[in-house]
Amino acid sequence: MSCIFCRIAQGEIPSTKVHEDELCFAIRDIRPQAPVHILVIPKAHVASLWELEDEALAGRLVSVAAKLARTEKLEKGWRLIANTREHAGQEVAHLHLHVLGGKRLGRMLPAAESG
Ligand code: 5GP
Ligand code: ZN
Repeated sequence: MSCIFCRIAQGEIPSTKVHEDELCFAIRDIRPQAPVHILVIPKAHVASLWELEDEALAGRLVSVAAKLARTEKLEKGWRLIANTREHAGQEVAHLHLHVLGGKRLGRMLPAAESG
C-alpha cells in the first residue's frame, strides 16, 4: 500500500491522533502552516472531494473539523481547506481537510493574477 494516509490509517506508520472514530481520524500536519494545523482524514481511501459521494462521511469530516477547532480554542476564527486536485495543489491524493488557526490567516487567496 503506497498511499501515505492509508498507511497511517492502518497503523503501518505510527502517528499521534488527536481524534479517531469509525470513519475518520485527525493528526497534526507534519509541516504546520499555522499554530494549529490539523488534518481530518477518512479511514477509507477517497482520492479527493471530487470522488466523495458518501454524505455521512462528508458530514462527519466537517463536524469533526469543527469539534477540533473548539477543542483547540480557535474561537477567534479558523479556516477549513480541502485542496482538490491539480489546480488546488493537492499533494496527497487521499482526501483530507485542513483545520488552520491560532493566528490571523489573511485573505483566503492572493489577488488573482492576470492571464
Ligand atoms: P495537500 O497539499 O495535499 O492539501 O496537503 C497535504 C498535507 O499533508 C501537507 O500539509 C503535508 O505537510 C501533510 N503531510 C504529508 N505527509 C504527511 C505525513 O506523513 N504526516 C503528516 N502528519 N502530515 C503529512
Ligand atoms: Zn489512501
